[in-house]
Amino acid sequence: MALMEMDVNKQTPDFLKKKLVLDLKGFSGELYWHEPMSKHTTLKVGGPADLLLFPKSEADLALLMPILTKHALPIFVLGNGSNLLVRDGGITGAVIHLRYLNQMKQVGANHLFAESGVSYPKLALFAKDHGLSGLEFASGIPGSVGGAVAMNAGIPNYETAQVLISVRLMDFLGNKGNYSVQDLAFSYRKTTLPQALILSATFILRSNPKRLIEAKMKHLLKRRQVTQPLQKPNCGSVFKNPPGQHAGALIEAVGLKGFSIGDAQISERHGNFILNHGRATASDCLALITKIQEDVTQQTGITLALEVKVIGRDTP
Ligand SMILES: Cc1cc2nc3c(=O)[nH]c(=O)nc-3n(C[C@H](O)[C@H](O)[C@H](O)COP(=O)(O)OP(=O)(O)OC[C@H]3O[C@@H](n4cnc5c(N)ncnc54)[C@H](O)[C@@H]3O)c2cc1C
Repeated sequence: MALMEMDVNKQTPDFLKKKLVLDLKGFSGELYWHEPMSKHTTLKVGGPADLLLFPKSEADLALLMPILTKHALPIFVLGNGSNLLVRDGGITGAVIHLRYLNQMKQVGANHLFAESGVSYPKLALFAKDHGLSGLEFASGIPGSVGGAVAMNAGIPNYETAQVLISVRLMDFLGNKGNYSVQDLAFSYRKTTLPQALILSATFILRSNPKRLIEAKMKHLLKRRQVTQPLQKPNCGSVFKNPPGQHAGALIEAVGLKGFSIGDAQISERHGNFILNHGRATASDCLALITKIQEDVTQQTGITLALEVKVIGRDTP
């Protein structure tokens, strides 16, 4: 057992902590109490998760899930934290990070299998190295495979659901199941999953010369570097694009580019990005979000819906 107790957790009562540690005897992963989520999100804000767990394997997960469920601990599955705004009070219950589920392989001529913890850009490179085309769009999306499936990540004209054929899920009691892409409702930056975590995904791609795949990836990455403020911590697009509109252009049109609250700033380069200049809090970011929504609605009549997932509690 490799349990690492880092800190005394204010939220989870001591008796529950003791019970959990006893129940988790066979767990071979890592476990941290009161772990700041600012260390695990690309925006670098967010208070502590009561409990952060890094299972080492599916067997670890199958052991863990029924125990967390038995103790009625809320469960949140964390990918690479690149589409998350965690409030300053942190997260109640258990956060599960699947970074150790990181195997990928080619299965059959045109299929790739990847576990949820694989980085999406790494999978795109792996596909390129195997002369498989269809995941070039993923090379600049800094999430995990699990997060990309959950968010149906993509860029204009390309999205994850187009190249996905199936996913393996585990429910909160530790039962596993296979689902085809048709079983899950995918839409713009959304997947409707049963209450479960994604273990792995299988993608269908097509053969193409490596040089063509590489050229497309380079082109997409270059465009991103020119249009997006990638030097400062951020969470990608904060808002979804309303039908026929660009959220960034609407934010620019109402004069908010460059506007700051505390250390959080609406990017000068791309209106749909909020940047953390070092000490931004979730409250700063949320105040900016409210300001954007109010100004855009007042001046254009359009309501901007969030793409970033806002989770957690306001106070510890
Ligand atoms: C610089 C930058 C550029 C970006 N560009 C794009 C882009 O072009 N297109 C785009 O779509 N997105 C983009 N994003 C947003 C983000 O990278 C994607 O939404 C990505 O798919 C999120 O993956 P993640 O692993 O980071 O998930 P997280 O942010 O950790 O989680 C997002 C959601 O997925 C769920 N989730 C994660 N893993 C699992 C799992 N294994 N099982 C069940 N649920 C899970 C979480 O519970 C949460 O609800 C960008 C972000 C940044 C910072």
